[in-house]
Amino acid sequence: MDTAALPPRALDILQSVFGYAAFRGQQAEVVAHVAGGGNALVLMPTGGGKSLCFQIPALLRQGIGIVVSPLIALMQDQVAALQEAGVRAEFLNSTLEWPAVQDIEKRARAGELDLLYLAPERVLKERTLELLDSLPIALFAFDEAHCVSQWGHDFRVEYLQLAQLAERYPAVPRIALTATATPATRLEIIDRLRLTGARTFLSGFDRPNIRYRIASKESPRKQLLRFIREEHAGQSGIVYCLSRKSVEETADLLAENGIDAIAYHAGFSAAEREQRQDRFIDEDGVVMVATIAFGMGIDKPDVRFVAHLDLPKSIEGYYQETGRAGRDGLPAEAWMVYGLADVVQQRRLIEQSDAAESYKRVSNAKLDAMLGLCETVRCRRQYLLEYFDEQAGPCGNCDNCLSPPAQFDGTEAAQKLLSCIYRCERASGYSFGAQQIIDVLRGERTDKVVERGHEAVSTFGMGADMSEAQWRAVLRQLVMLRLVTVDHEHYNVLRLTEDSRAVLKGERRLTLRQDAAPAAGARRGRKAARGAAASGSAGGPAQLTPQQEVVFQALREWRRGIAKEHGVPAYTVLHDSSLAEIAQRMPDSQMALGGVSGVGATKLARYGTAIIDVVRATRQQAA
Ligand code: ADP
Ligand code: ZN
Repeated sequence: MDTAALPPRALDILQSVFGYAAFRGQQAEVVAHVAGGGNALVLMPTGGGKSLCFQIPALLRQGIGIVVSPLIALMQDQVAALQEAGVRAEFLNSTLEWPAVQDIEKRARAGELDLLYLAPERVLKERTLELLDSLPIALFAFDEAHCVSQWGHDFRVEYLQLAQLAERYPAVPRIALTATATPATRLEIIDRLRLTGARTFLSGFDRPNIRYRIASKESPRKQLLRFIREEHAGQSGIVYCLSRKSVEETADLLAENGIDAIAYHAGFSAAEREQRQDRFIDEDGVVMVATIAFGMGIDKPDVRFVAHLDLPKSIEGYYQETGRAGRDGLPAEAWMVYGLADVVQQRRLIEQSDAAESYKRVSNAKLDAMLGLCETVRCRRQYLLEYFDEQAGPCGNCDNCLSPPAQFDGTEAAQKLLSCIYRCERASGYSFGAQQIIDVLRGERTDKVVERGHEAVSTFGMGADMSEAQWRAVLRQLVMLRLVTVDHEHYNVLRLTEDSRAVLKGERRLTLRQDAAPAAGARRGRKAARGAAASGSAGGPAQLTPQQEVVFQALREWRRGIAKEHGVPAYTVLHDSSLAEIAQRMPDSQMALGGVSGVGATKLARYGTAIIDVVRATRQQAA
């Protein structure tokens, strides 16, 4: 395939409109290819800079760029950011009043728009197609293209119909973009979106600034509270829970403990959700406690942590959710607690769904890969990247690398546990749950142990040398390995499986993970987190001197005012990283200010004088 040359104007646009000095990673190649009329599939990690890959070709090519984006919030923020940079961009979605829709359509027809964002369900409406038929179209961009994958976690049925665009507008280049795609999903995207002859641009998936940590679940909310208080006080973060109830209880607990936490789930009205989301995006240091209904398309760059109180269904989901941390490239954490109940719950959700058998099989395989990540003693990042078909060495920035977990020969422990399940069942004629089995193993004379006569079974007290938490960890791993099943139809009792026999007979040996003693990993994390927040402003970028810090805070205050006035999120005016650079350089002329990354011509013209005034006034104060 020929490699198209980068049009010289591309660099001009990058610098004058977006204020960036150079293209990053594969951006230049993608821009050249698409500007030259080619189809493309772009896989880049979150924060990698996908947007410029279609925005700049749209500005280079004749006509209007049509961007299909699955979420209204995402669209609105991208359009707000483009308008701030002086680009003629608009969106059409259900939030607009009729006169506004007509006005935008009119401007599109008059050739006054460079980019138009649309929701997928809107694209194929008759009215939209008529509009598109009447316009010169520069390109189609499909953001979050993994939504087309039926096996995926964000499947959107409307995405399937986008293939029609290939037939209706065969000469218009099409570019699909995503941050999550296994090799199988990549093929699916190309096939379903008919990206004929598309070139695939594959960037590494690694997010080196994110530290991965997965600990065993003891008392999850307390663990979370400690994590936030000790390591991320005052910082922005997202906490994911599976159920609405758990979302609300967790948000309440955090709020009672002085953390600025808000809840978000599909039970709130659309208006309420929007208001909560806006608070999270616009204000500093808010913790959003949410179901996975929250977050797709959240571009907030300074999310310092993503915490999971419940196990995600798949690595794709986990990677996408944790990927919302640290888009600005500064240190961030992905933190999760997980336990036996999570394994049981997720398996039950799959079994009880009325999906086809083939779908259940895929779902089970995905869950197993996710469980493998939780139990691995290897580098978590390595494991994650291998899942996406990428090779890497140990990272030095995950819990397993920082404090390598011990492994032990768990054969004997497993035999004791399996045989205890068997003996108790034999003694009583029916099966028991985890608590009873562990109590018997540990030789606890609880009421239930005494009543059932389980003091008399041969495994009574045979496991007194291990703590309850250790036994739970062993059981969790046996369930994960399908050596024990949990019967959810019958009070979660434990049962042996066909595979248990080989372990009981000593034909199969098991190596198990020894869970770290609680809080061991935490201390190291805290030190690093403190380093990240060294500027004094929770999670602020770069190291600033006290004087620079004063200027930085004054610039943020000024930015808050502008964002309010324009009704846009603060970061679309200028990023923290740009404000920090201004505070460091303290430019005293428009020329000098124009050299700051993220300050393009439009922003310079609009805000240059105001910014220089803020710098002047505060630097004197602070001196
Ligand atoms: P993605 O959609 O891949 O998650 P974005 O397109 O939102 O990423 O870009 C992530 C961040 O990186 C944005 O703040 C963007 O302005 C910035 N960025 C993108 N390209 C460049 C570049 N060439 N130089 C500097 N910053 C860039
Ligand atoms: Zn690692």
